[in-house]
Amino acid sequence: LLHVSHLEKYYQKAHILHDVNFELNTGEVLTLLGPSGSGKSTLLRCLNGLEAYQQGAITFDGQAVTQKPKQWQQLRQQIGMVFQSYDLFPNRNVLENILLGPLKVQKRPRAAVLPEIQQLLKKVGMADYADAYPRQLSGGQKQRIAIVRALALKPKLMLFDEVTASLDPEMVRDVLNIIRQLAASHAMTMLVVTHEMDFAKQISDQVLFLADGQILEQTPGTQFFEQPQTERAQNFLASMD
Ligand code: ATP
Ligand code: MG
Repeated sequence: LLHVSHLEKYYQKAHILHDVNFELNTGEVLTLLGPSGSGKSTLLRCLNGLEAYQQGAITFDGQAVTQKPKQWQQLRQQIGMVFQSYDLFPNRNVLENILLGPLKVQKRPRAAVLPEIQQLLKKVGMADYADAYPRQLSGGQKQRIAIVRALALKPKLMLFDEVTASLDPEMVRDVLNIIRQLAASHAMTMLVVTHEMDFAKQISDQVLFLADGQILEQTPGTQFFEQPQTERAQNFLASMD
Protein backbone atom coordinates (compact mmCIF):
# COMPACT_ATOMS: atom_id res chain seq x y z
CA LEU A 1 0.00 0.00 0.00
CA LEU A 2 2.80 2.37 0.93
CA HIS A 3 6.28 2.30 -0.55
CA VAL A 4 9.07 4.63 0.52
CA SER A 5 12.42 4.55 -1.21
CA HIS A 6 15.59 6.55 -0.70
CA LEU A 7 13.73 9.38 0.97
CA GLU A 8 15.83 12.44 1.83
CA LYS A 9 14.44 15.41 3.71
CA TYR A 10 16.10 18.71 4.56
CA TYR A 11 14.95 21.77 6.45
CA GLN A 12 17.15 24.38 4.80
CA LYS A 13 20.62 22.94 5.41
CA ALA A 14 19.59 20.56 8.18
CA HIS A 15 19.51 17.01 6.89
CA ILE A 16 16.52 15.48 8.72
CA LEU A 17 15.84 12.15 6.98
CA HIS A 18 18.60 10.01 5.47
CA ASP A 19 17.86 7.38 2.86
CA VAL A 20 14.64 6.09 4.42
CA ASN A 21 13.31 2.90 2.85
CA PHE A 22 10.37 0.77 3.88
CA GLU A 23 7.13 -0.79 2.74
CA LEU A 24 3.79 -1.17 4.42
CA ASN A 25 1.29 -3.74 3.20
CA THR A 26 -2.46 -3.49 3.50
CA GLY A 27 -3.68 -4.61 6.92
CA GLU A 28 -0.28 -4.26 8.57
CA VAL A 29 0.68 -2.18 11.57
CA LEU A 30 4.06 -0.52 11.52
CA THR A 31 5.35 1.23 14.60
CA LEU A 32 7.93 3.93 14.27
CA LEU A 33 10.10 4.28 17.36
CA GLY A 34 12.99 6.55 18.15
CA PRO A 35 14.30 9.28 20.41
CA SER A 36 12.92 12.80 20.42
CA GLY A 37 14.05 14.75 17.39
CA SER A 38 14.88 11.64 15.34
CA GLY A 39 12.48 12.65 12.57
CA LYS A 40 9.39 10.55 13.26
CA SER A 41 6.83 13.34 12.88
CA THR A 42 8.67 14.72 9.87
CA LEU A 43 8.48 11.32 8.19
CA LEU A 44 4.75 11.05 8.88
CA ARG A 45 4.15 14.50 7.44
CA CYS A 46 6.08 13.59 4.29
CA LEU A 47 3.92 10.49 3.87
CA ASN A 48 0.64 12.35 3.68
CA GLY A 49 1.96 15.21 1.61
CA LEU A 50 2.01 17.80 4.41
CA GLU A 51 5.74 18.24 3.99
CA ALA A 52 7.92 18.41 0.89
CA TYR A 53 10.89 16.09 0.53
CA GLN A 54 13.97 16.62 -1.60
CA GLN A 55 14.90 13.19 -2.94
CA GLY A 56 13.54 9.69 -3.19
CA ALA A 57 10.02 8.50 -3.78
CA ILE A 58 6.85 7.85 -1.81
CA THR A 59 4.15 5.80 -3.47
CA PHE A 60 0.76 5.35 -1.86
CA ASP A 61 -1.79 3.04 -3.43
CA GLY A 62 0.09 3.14 -6.71
CA GLN A 63 0.33 6.93 -6.83
CA ALA A 64 3.32 9.16 -6.23
CA VAL A 65 2.84 11.33 -3.15
CA THR A 66 3.46 14.94 -4.08
CA GLN A 67 2.29 18.27 -2.78
CA LYS A 68 0.21 19.19 -5.80
CA PRO A 69 -2.95 20.78 -4.36
CA LYS A 70 -5.35 18.55 -6.24
CA GLN A 71 -3.62 15.36 -5.29
CA TRP A 72 -3.26 16.52 -1.73
CA GLN A 73 -7.02 16.85 -1.36
CA GLN A 74 -7.33 13.26 -2.44
CA LEU A 75 -4.53 12.06 -0.19
CA ARG A 76 -6.02 13.73 2.84
CA GLN A 77 -9.12 11.63 2.44
CA GLN A 78 -7.27 8.36 2.03
CA ILE A 79 -4.64 8.88 4.68
CA GLY A 80 -6.10 9.75 8.07
CA MET A 81 -3.85 11.40 10.60
CA VAL A 82 -4.25 11.92 14.33
CA PHE A 83 -1.80 14.05 16.27
CA GLN A 84 -0.91 14.66 19.88
CA SER A 85 -3.15 17.74 19.93
CA TYR A 86 -6.66 16.98 18.81
CA ASP A 87 -7.39 20.32 17.14
CA LEU A 88 -11.17 19.97 17.02
CA PHE A 89 -13.06 23.12 16.03
CA PRO A 90 -14.04 24.66 19.40
CA ASN A 91 -17.19 26.37 18.11
CA ARG A 92 -18.64 23.20 16.57
CA ASN A 93 -20.09 20.27 18.43
CA VAL A 94 -18.77 16.72 18.15
CA LEU A 95 -21.10 15.66 15.35
CA GLU A 96 -20.41 18.80 13.30
CA ASN A 97 -16.68 18.33 13.75
CA ILE A 98 -16.90 14.79 12.40
CA LEU A 99 -19.36 15.57 9.59
CA LEU A 100 -17.27 18.33 8.09
CA GLY A 101 -14.94 16.10 6.08
CA PRO A 102 -17.46 13.60 4.71
CA LEU A 103 -19.97 16.33 3.76
CA LYS A 104 -17.81 19.27 2.67
CA VAL A 105 -14.77 17.49 1.30
CA GLN A 106 -16.19 14.19 0.11
CA LYS A 107 -19.62 15.63 -0.74
CA ARG A 108 -21.36 12.54 0.54
CA PRO A 109 -25.05 12.75 1.48
CA ARG A 110 -25.71 13.44 5.15
CA ALA A 111 -28.22 10.60 5.39
CA ALA A 112 -25.59 8.09 4.33
CA VAL A 113 -22.88 9.46 6.59
CA LEU A 114 -24.88 9.85 9.81
CA PRO A 115 -25.45 6.18 10.61
CA GLU A 116 -21.78 5.43 9.96
CA ILE A 117 -20.73 8.15 12.35
CA GLN A 118 -23.16 7.00 15.01
CA GLN A 119 -21.70 3.53 14.65
CA LEU A 120 -18.17 4.87 15.03
CA LEU A 121 -19.11 6.99 18.05
CA LYS A 122 -20.64 3.93 19.65
CA LYS A 123 -17.51 1.92 19.04
CA VAL A 124 -15.34 4.43 20.86
CA GLY A 125 -17.86 4.81 23.70
CA MET A 126 -18.89 8.35 22.73
CA ALA A 127 -22.41 7.79 21.39
CA ASP A 128 -23.89 10.12 24.01
CA TYR A 129 -21.62 13.02 23.16
CA ALA A 130 -22.68 13.95 19.62
CA ASP A 131 -24.04 17.31 20.83
CA ALA A 132 -21.21 18.12 23.20
CA TYR A 133 -18.68 20.84 22.48
CA PRO A 134 -14.94 20.08 22.63
CA ARG A 135 -14.49 22.21 25.78
CA GLN A 136 -16.91 19.88 27.60
CA LEU A 137 -14.77 16.82 26.89
CA SER A 138 -11.74 15.38 28.63
CA GLY A 139 -8.49 14.99 26.72
CA GLY A 140 -9.09 11.29 26.16
CA GLN A 141 -12.61 11.94 24.91
CA LYS A 142 -11.37 14.62 22.54
CA GLN A 143 -8.76 12.26 21.22
CA ARG A 144 -11.39 9.56 20.64
CA ILE A 145 -13.41 12.09 18.65
CA ALA A 146 -10.34 13.06 16.65
CA ILE A 147 -9.90 9.38 15.77
CA VAL A 148 -13.55 9.06 14.73
CA ARG A 149 -13.20 12.21 12.64
CA ALA A 150 -10.29 10.68 10.74
CA LEU A 151 -12.07 7.31 10.35
CA ALA A 152 -15.24 8.95 9.05
CA LEU A 153 -13.42 9.63 5.78
CA LYS A 154 -12.84 5.87 5.39
CA PRO A 155 -9.10 6.18 4.94
CA LYS A 156 -6.98 3.34 3.61
CA LEU A 157 -4.15 4.21 5.95
CA MET A 158 -4.11 5.78 9.40
CA LEU A 159 -1.15 7.69 10.82
CA PHE A 160 -0.99 8.13 14.59
CA ASP A 161 1.61 10.53 15.99
CA GLU A 162 1.96 10.12 19.76
CA VAL A 163 -1.77 10.40 20.22
CA THR A 164 -1.60 9.60 23.93
CA ALA A 165 1.36 11.82 24.78
CA SER A 166 -0.68 14.60 26.36
CA LEU A 167 -3.25 12.40 28.10
CA ASP A 168 -3.58 11.48 31.76
CA PRO A 169 -2.62 7.86 32.41
CA GLU A 170 -6.22 6.68 32.93
CA MET A 171 -7.19 8.00 29.52
CA VAL A 172 -4.21 6.55 27.71
CA ARG A 173 -5.60 3.05 28.02
CA ASP A 174 -8.96 3.93 26.43
CA VAL A 175 -7.36 5.49 23.41
CA LEU A 176 -4.82 2.70 22.98
CA ASN A 177 -7.63 0.15 23.18
CA ILE A 178 -9.39 1.84 20.29
CA ILE A 179 -6.28 1.67 18.17
CA ARG A 180 -5.79 -1.97 19.14
CA GLN A 181 -9.36 -2.71 18.10
CA LEU A 182 -8.86 -1.00 14.77
CA ALA A 183 -5.87 -3.20 14.11
CA ALA A 184 -7.53 -6.40 15.27
CA SER A 185 -11.12 -6.29 14.11
CA HIS A 186 -10.87 -3.88 11.18
CA ALA A 187 -7.44 -4.84 9.88
CA MET A 188 -6.77 -1.13 9.45
CA THR A 189 -3.39 -0.36 7.92
CA MET A 190 -1.58 1.88 10.36
CA LEU A 191 1.67 3.65 10.98
CA VAL A 192 1.98 4.43 14.66
CA VAL A 193 4.46 6.63 16.48
CA THR A 194 4.30 5.91 20.18
CA HIS A 195 6.25 5.99 23.42
CA GLU A 196 4.08 3.21 24.89
CA MET A 197 6.34 0.20 24.52
CA ASP A 198 3.90 -2.45 25.78
CA PHE A 199 1.34 -1.20 23.32
CA ALA A 200 3.91 -1.19 20.51
CA LYS A 201 4.85 -4.77 21.36
CA GLN A 202 1.24 -5.85 21.11
CA ILE A 203 0.29 -4.28 17.83
CA SER A 204 3.41 -4.25 15.66
CA ASP A 205 3.72 -6.31 12.51
CA GLN A 206 6.84 -4.36 11.75
CA VAL A 207 9.04 -2.00 13.76
CA LEU A 208 11.24 0.78 12.43
CA PHE A 209 13.76 2.34 14.78
CA LEU A 210 14.78 5.79 13.70
CA ALA A 211 17.72 7.72 15.14
CA ASP A 212 19.10 10.97 13.74
CA GLY A 213 16.88 10.58 10.69
CA GLN A 214 18.18 7.13 9.78
CA ILE A 215 16.49 3.79 10.08
CA LEU A 216 18.87 1.86 12.28
CA GLU A 217 16.67 -1.19 12.68
CA GLN A 218 13.80 -2.65 10.75
CA THR A 219 12.35 -5.87 12.10
CA PRO A 220 9.25 -7.97 11.74
CA GLY A 221 6.90 -8.33 14.72
CA THR A 222 8.32 -8.08 18.21
CA GLN A 223 11.87 -9.07 17.36
CA PHE A 224 13.01 -5.51 17.92
CA PHE A 225 12.01 -5.61 21.57
CA GLU A 226 13.64 -8.95 22.23
CA GLN A 227 16.87 -8.52 20.33
CA PRO A 228 17.71 -4.93 19.50
CA GLN A 229 20.84 -5.07 17.37
CA THR A 230 22.29 -1.60 17.77
CA GLU A 231 23.52 0.09 20.93
CA ARG A 232 21.27 3.07 20.17
CA ALA A 233 18.22 0.84 20.20
CA GLN A 234 19.33 -0.98 23.34
CA ASN A 235 19.78 2.34 25.14
CA PHE A 236 16.47 3.59 23.81
CA LEU A 237 14.59 0.57 25.10
CA ALA A 238 16.37 0.72 28.45
CA SER A 239 15.34 4.37 28.82
CA MET A 240 11.72 3.41 28.20
CA ASP A 241 11.44 0.97 31.11
P1 ATP B 1 9.52 13.90 19.01
O1 ATP B 1 9.65 12.50 19.53
O2 ATP B 1 10.06 14.89 20.00
O3 ATP B 1 8.16 14.24 18.52
P2 ATP B 1 10.38 13.54 16.27
O4 ATP B 1 11.13 12.25 16.10
O5 ATP B 1 8.97 13.57 15.87
O6 ATP B 1 10.55 14.03 17.78
P3 ATP B 1 10.69 15.68 14.37
O7 ATP B 1 9.66 16.53 14.93
O8 ATP B 1 10.40 14.96 13.10
O9 ATP B 1 11.20 14.62 15.45
O10 ATP B 1 11.99 16.55 14.17
C1 ATP B 1 13.16 16.06 13.54
C2 ATP B 1 14.18 17.18 13.41
O11 ATP B 1 13.70 18.16 12.49
C3 ATP B 1 14.45 17.93 14.70
O12 ATP B 1 15.83 18.20 14.77
C4 ATP B 1 13.65 19.20 14.56
O13 ATP B 1 14.27 20.25 15.25
C5 ATP B 1 13.68 19.43 13.08
N1 ATP B 1 12.48 20.15 12.59
C6 ATP B 1 11.19 19.72 12.74
N2 ATP B 1 10.32 20.56 12.15
C7 ATP B 1 11.08 21.57 11.63
C8 ATP B 1 10.77 22.76 10.89
N3 ATP B 1 9.52 23.07 10.56
N4 ATP B 1 11.80 23.55 10.53
C9 ATP B 1 13.08 23.22 10.84
N5 ATP B 1 13.44 22.13 11.53
C10 ATP B 1 12.46 21.29 11.92
MG1 MG C 1 7.18 14.02 16.85
